[in-house]
Amino acid sequence: MKKQYAQIIVDVPTMQTDQPYTYVIPEEMIDQILPGMRVTVPFGRRKVMGFVIGIRATTDLSEDQLRPLTTILDLSPVLNTELLSLSDYLADETFAFRISILQTMLPNALKADYQHFIKIVGKVSDDVANRLFMGLTEIAFHANQYSDKDLATLAKLRRQHSIEVRIEVNDRAKVKTQLAYQFSQNVTMLKTAQQSLRPTAKKQAQLMAFILQHVGETWLKKELQEMLPVSDATLAHAVTHEWLVKKHVEALRDPFKATVQKSNPLDLNDEQQQAFDRISASADLHRFAPFLLEGITGSGKTEVYLQVAQHVLKQGKTVLFLVPEIALTPQMVRRVKSRFGEQTAVLHSGLSDGERYDEWRRIERGDVQIVVGARSAVFAPLDNLGVIIVDEEHETTYKQSDNPRYNARDVALWRGEYYQIPVILGSATPSLETRARAQRGVYERLTLTQRAGGAKLPKVDVIDMKDTLADGPETNFSAELKDKIADRLNKKEQIVLMLNRRGFSSFVMCRDCGFVPRDPNCNLAMTLHMDSHTLKCHYCGHEEPIPTVCPNCGSKRIRYYGTGTEKVAVELAELFPTARVIRMDQDTTRKKGSMDKLLEKFGRHEADILLGTQMIAKGLDFPDVTLVGVLNADTALGLPDFHASERTFQLLTQVSGRAGRAQKSGEVVVQTFNPQHYAIVFAQQHDYEGFYHQEMRARHAGNYSPYYYTVQIQASHSDENQAALQMLQVARWLRAHVDQDVIVLGPSPKPIAKMRNRYYFQIILKFKQRDMVDNLLKTLQNRSQNSKGDLRLSIDREPVSFM
Ligand code: ADP
Ligand code: ZN
Repeated sequence: MKKQYAQIIVDVPTMQTDQPYTYVIPEEMIDQILPGMRVTVPFGRRKVMGFVIGIRATTDLSEDQLRPLTTILDLSPVLNTELLSLSDYLADETFAFRISILQTMLPNALKADYQHFIKIVGKVSDDVANRLFMGLTEIAFHANQYSDKDLATLAKLRRQHSIEVRIEVNDRAKVKTQLAYQFSQNVTMLKTAQQSLRPTAKKQAQLMAFILQHVGETWLKKELQEMLPVSDATLAHAVTHEWLVKKHVEALRDPFKATVQKSNPLDLNDEQQQAFDRISASADLHRFAPFLLEGITGSGKTEVYLQVAQHVLKQGKTVLFLVPEIALTPQMVRRVKSRFGEQTAVLHSGLSDGERYDEWRRIERGDVQIVVGARSAVFAPLDNLGVIIVDEEHETTYKQSDNPRYNARDVALWRGEYYQIPVILGSATPSLETRARAQRGVYERLTLTQRAGGAKLPKVDVIDMKDTLADGPETNFSAELKDKIADRLNKKEQIVLMLNRRGFSSFVMCRDCGFVPRDPNCNLAMTLHMDSHTLKCHYCGHEEPIPTVCPNCGSKRIRYYGTGTEKVAVELAELFPTARVIRMDQDTTRKKGSMDKLLEKFGRHEADILLGTQMIAKGLDFPDVTLVGVLNADTALGLPDFHASERTFQLLTQVSGRAGRAQKSGEVVVQTFNPQHYAIVFAQQHDYEGFYHQEMRARHAGNYSPYYYTVQIQASHSDENQAALQMLQVARWLRAHVDQDVIVLGPSPKPIAKMRNRYYFQIILKFKQRDMVDNLLKTLQNRSQNSKGDLRLSIDREPVSFM
């Protein structure tokens, strides 16, 4: 047979190894191996996992430079041609290694698991032999099970070649199986055995009769024992006589068992119909068509998504439906499930690795036609896609903040183009970038301007909190908001109160000298936790008791300032002792499914007030909510980030959209210290277009996105001077190499300049031509990889946060 060679990306994430390596395919594997499969290969003195990305009949390398691959880990490819070429695109886009990207596309269960063993091969002390090796010559090695001293001893023995380390690559993709029995098909044998059964062997006779009725079938042990009173011993007896054979069959873990009621399509209104017609027409034409579906909150965007989905499902195609965060959108998941039932897979962030792997296999095998999920679901191995939906396309959760820093919205568009299908980007408050592309005709803009059920948008009152605070004790509630809450409680209507925690939290401050206790590692104001009576750092977890005297001036007037949901809940209880309040924040929703439970409780009217952080702003649809209060609208305005106005406008619009969604009309009260700010004024007027035009002028004046591309280079070092110095050199190097129209800002300490004992600096690049800057950035990434030392550098294209 002619020789064949595999191109393999190895599981060694460094710049030097970020390229395919060539291996010889052993003859017996030639028929099995396909691109997209995982293999193990020798790499240096190790064995590592790798992905086959191509197969060639020739190579430029000479025989002595080549080694054969060791094993194939898959029976069929885990990555198809489409996802393999997507990884090429993403490598360019995100400055990440191919191996990290390939692994990001797959469920964790398919990542390699390296098991380390240590073996005695020379002279070791009795203590090492008996205590560490427990009298064995080879043991499994887990570094975290040894003290530093023992680790040092082992390292020394290794240098002396007295012990050896061996690494095995395990496949973690364990399919969960259940015990089953397959009945024999040999009827003659079975009949003979039946006749020779002793008359007292009642159980065996029963089993035999059953087998003869179901010749050749496979039954789960569990089900068999539910049907027949057969013991394990009876089954074991039957196995030895070959009436049946033991088998392990694949069992799928179903994480979303709860059944939902079936729902039917609604009659679309004119605007919905028009949107549906445009999108389904391009689906029929089999053409890439990105749409911006710009519809006010409650305008029925979801109904359009569902009907387009149905349209392409009827054509035998599949649907990818992305939502910002599954945990925050339980109602959306329920709506999809209620329309499409069993053909839906939900890629939930709460899934265990095993459950996620099961869902992934259901998708990969073609058992499901719709996938609903958050960011990483964009890599769902659906083929034959008919439409991709990105709900709330402006949400920052679509951008991954760690390596690889991809944006699921852009990946969705890439896949849409690959399959030549429509991609729907839906939002009430589109990102400036998306809205601007629609302006230029890159996306087709479809608008829904009315609330679908005929409901009106709520009236929004803006209250200046400076007035409230001037004439009374510190409070979270203006007189206006208090009156309205009392009114709704009287009428037995429901209330949503939102406390924006971003960039502002409850902390302790000395009223005499202004001292704020800070965390010693991160230099951040610590957050007050009343339940545990401690101060905590939200970045590194440092915790300490609340001081009773100011460590700075000795004053006893040190108290908390600002506000958290707990504190608001206490004030609410004082103001409205009979109101039933559900508090929803990170603390009360940590447990899996608890968010869903709290929302259901609110939906059943078991509470009057839902008090929560930004997490309650999204997607909730409760018909009896007639008042929404925003307790502190402007905390995000002060963020050192050019998105601050956009985020504020989006948040206010989203949360206002929770009021008056059905027959009863709604009202919103926004408390702020910046009542004149345009983000707040336009949100008050429900005027996205007005906000868009004014914000575009601000972006233009400041040379910001979408007029300029933005890249953030950040670096950290354990030594503050080194961090600053090396980033200065980077900035100098960039300035020397870029064109005049490229703006280089920095380096400057990041807003959160110290985290986990490392110092962070950033450089911001703004530019209009990508190619040249991209090349420089690749060189930079390369150089920083190759340089020794402690500096960690990362490059983030279009960052969504500058904290
Ligand atoms: P959006 O996703 O734009 O916020 P939703 O899809 O949640 O809006 O719709 C808001 C409400 O209007 C929902 O209760 C939905 O059932 C209802 N609705 C949507 N379309 C129609 C329609 N064509 N006729 C009647 N009610 C509708
Ligand atoms: Zn800290």
